[in-house]
Amino acid sequence: MFIANWKMNGSQSMLLDWLKGVDKTLDKSLQKNCLLCPPVCFLSEASNLISKSNLNISLGAQNIDPNCFSSLTGGIDGAMLKSFGSEFVIIGHSERREVFKEKDSLLLEKLKSASKNELKVIFCIGESLKDKQENQTEKVLKQQLQIIKKVDLNEFMIAYEPIWAIGSGETANIDYIDKVHRGIIDEVSSYQKEGFKGVSYGGSVDSTSSKDILSIKGVKGLLIGGASLQYQEFCNIVLSNH
Ligand code: PEP
Repeated sequence: MFIANWKMNGSQSMLLDWLKGVDKTLDKSLQKNCLLCPPVCFLSEASNLISKSNLNISLGAQNIDPNCFSSLTGGIDGAMLKSFGSEFVIIGHSERREVFKEKDSLLLEKLKSASKNELKVIFCIGESLKDKQENQTEKVLKQQLQIIKKVDLNEFMIAYEPIWAIGSGETANIDYIDKVHRGIIDEVSSYQKEGFKGVSYGGSVDSTSSKDILSIKGVKGLLIGGASLQYQEFCNIVLSNH
């Protein structure tokens, strides 16, 4: 799965150009592995364009608000995301953990909301540079994974994103990704959750680094931020898998 996380970027014209470009460059069998996560305001339009042009791309949201609040100004819940055409949702991205101080208790409610609305989850985990330097990566990641045990998810993928690699231009090295992914797979497999679909890597991936990362056995996909904004670069990453 190739996940394009546009973060807070995009416009209607960019969306149109991006979808047209991807359709022109990737055949339908390759489109099947592509997931576009634009800002929520573009989901509905993206869904209409995808159906109208018969594209084979899936859509996801970058965030979800939990159902546990009876009133939440500005909130968007799982049912709304579904009605906009979203099949997936990203939960636990480090930017939201850091900027909005999203803690495990809130992330658990978000996971429950996704589950209730049958949204497929991309659950992000990652260590800081300090954690890495202090050899705490394994411990930190295991801790972040614990809430997965507490909820029945239909389908979910873990996105391993070392915080120091996100948007920094510095990708983690192959041996490091391999070792960390093995550890995550062992840990999550021990929870015996049927919906577990594997581990994706994210952190400054572009078309020069993607092939090597995708050759790692435990890497089931890529979560791509900056490099997903240009359709050509995104497609080059997808094509590097062949
Ligand atoms: C991300 O958005 O999660 C991400 C990995 O961004 P970038 O590819 O820009 O590092």
